[in-house]
Amino acid sequence: GLSADAYCRRHEITVTGDNVIQPFTSFEATGFPSELLREMRQAGFSAPTPIQAQSWPIAIQGRDIVAIAKTGSGKTLGYLVPSFILMKQRRNHNPRLGPTVLVLSPTRELATQIQDEAVKFGKSSRISCTCLYGGAPKGPQLRDLDRGVDIVVATPGRLNDILEMKRVSLHQVSYLVLDEADRMLDMGFEPQIRKIVKEVPSRRQTLMYTATWPKEVRRIAADLLVNPVQVNIGNVD
Ligand code: ADP
Ligand code: MG
Repeated sequence: GLSADAYCRRHEITVTGDNVIQPFTSFEATGFPSELLREMRQAGFSAPTPIQAQSWPIAIQGRDIVAIAKTGSGKTLGYLVPSFILMKQRRNHNPRLGPTVLVLSPTRELATQIQDEAVKFGKSSRISCTCLYGGAPKGPQLRDLDRGVDIVVATPGRLNDILEMKRVSLHQVSYLVLDEADRMLDMGFEPQIRKIVKEVPSRRQTLMYTATWPKEVRRIAADLLVNPVQVNIGNVD
């Protein structure tokens, strides 16, 4: 295979941070459970995308990440797959006490797509996932939470409503993802995001994925992430 440097040059990847681990440039290099690799191959994937190659080993090490990559680069599995691996390693929690993984997403449509990927690729890891979004009745969402789930994918507005009703606890969350952070800020979700993050233990791992890197996103990254590895794919500044 290619050396890490050659791989990064070829895919226009820039990685900054202390002691960064080598990327997983092939599925074989991941050491992931064979059923999970089989699911990805059956989906027609032949190798990790560059953002996955970088995100997977860094996230599995437990480090914070900020990843800047354009739409369509495979960011969803970039953060979901490490959450499956970490959940399996830490299988000592009771989902009825609350989720251990929380993904914030700007819209109902995107949140639903993330849940679909979590269900499809999390099956062999026995992951349960539910989705919380506005514009739909709360009843079924609350029932799913009461049954207990490993992963919650939520839009910030609806999650805040449910938090205010005290119908979900985020005290077990150890893996927090802000997906499409730039879009969430554009939509005015910053106050809700900050309220939600206050409910998540400060001893957590935080991953932020964004297509652009303007100063508003840099500021919230500086506030919420601890010594992150920054991964840029392509020519996004
Ligand atoms: P992003 O969040 O960066 O916009 P997505 O996670 O939505 O990208 O992925 C874009 C598409 O690429 C999806 O259809 C997804 O199933 C597919 N995909 C994900 N990982 C791979 C891979 N390793 N190889 C090929 N396609 C992939
Ligand atoms: Mg995405």
